[in-house]
Amino acid sequence: DVWDSPVFDEHEQVCLFSDAPTGLKCIVAIHSTRLGPACGGTRFRPYQSDREALDDALRLSRAMSYKSALAGLPVGGGKSVIIGDPRAIKNRALLHAYGRCINRIGASFATGEDVGMSVADVETVAEVSPYIAGTSANSGDPSIPTAIGVMHGLRAVVKWRFDQDGFHGMRVAVQGLGAVGRGVAERLHAEGAQLIVADIREDAVAAAVEQLGARAVPVSDIHRADADVFAPCALGGVITEASAREIRARAVAGAANNQLADALAGQILAERGILFAPDYVLNAGGIISGMQALNTIPGREEAKVPPLEESLAAIHDRLMRIFARADAQGKTPAEAAEQLARDIIGRGR
Ligand code: NAD
Repeated sequence: DVWDSPVFDEHEQVCLFSDAPTGLKCIVAIHSTRLGPACGGTRFRPYQSDREALDDALRLSRAMSYKSALAGLPVGGGKSVIIGDPRAIKNRALLHAYGRCINRIGASFATGEDVGMSVADVETVAEVSPYIAGTSANSGDPSIPTAIGVMHGLRAVVKWRFDQDGFHGMRVAVQGLGAVGRGVAERLHAEGAQLIVADIREDAVAAAVEQLGARAVPVSDIHRADADVFAPCALGGVITEASAREIRARAVAGAANNQLADALAGQILAERGILFAPDYVLNAGGIISGMQALNTIPGREEAKVPPLEESLAAIHDRLMRIFARADAQGKTPAEAAEQLARDIIGRGR
């Protein structure tokens, strides 16, 4: 039932790889190469089932197509997932085997870091594959530009929903204090926001309480915290039909990919008057910074991308335009953003 699955969106190519000596099992999903090579990170997770891993790869690769199209980047969308507990099975031999797998796809797919993969892991894969970016020698850790981009998006959300410039006094509930969530929390704190935080890692929560004056709440309560903005920065699928009914914030905007579990969750937010900022617009900073490397490749003058700071700042205006378009068309921002992305992809290169 792969072809009929709701997350199979006419993907161009889906590859399943295994390497018995190292225990590697991975799925690479290429959603679209119409605008350029499919780009998307590598996620390393202990999925409960192969089906869950496939769905994640399909969903995430589609979101990558939308993300790059809306950011005006000359690339398509893809994603790779490695199945297994990175703490248990990740080692040099497995990462090399992974690099050899993506070499077989060749130039139509390029990847980088995502959840479960570090810059050091990317560098290990890069020893055998030219199709991985994000080593410290090129674009480096994408979580920093991602956090900066999320801040530009949050600024647009606060302006649109509360007609306020900046974060002074805003109560923001941050779910997940990892590479991006912590970066967002630090910047919000520096700009006068009051933080409410949750993470399954107690050390990360303790540090935010001590260093950023945050108030900690249990992981199960962060989505219904008494906040102005709920910022999901952990994993996807957090806005379900049930959680959408419990959110007390008036806006949802964060870094996590695929925050809406399904379209119904988005509808419920809209019915409750809660502004949802499409995640792939907010969290494009990582791919935008990765694409800066394109500017140094000779012969790609036609595909130059604007300088990093300018590209990250553009997230603010792009989101404002999507909110305005959604209002004008009586759609949710997620629907308006998706339509816009599909139009851009449909026009092709
Ligand atoms: P990360 O692994 O560094 O951080 C995730 C954090 O979430 C960890 O601290 C983890 O303990 C916490 N967490 C996990 N489950 C949780 C739960 N149930 N409740 C609360 N906290 C929980 O990952 P990251 O790089 O910060 O990425 C975060 C999200 O942003 C992911 O969805 C990722 O796909 C997305 N994203 C990241 C980037 C990037 O550049 N790193 C770019 C675009 C999108």
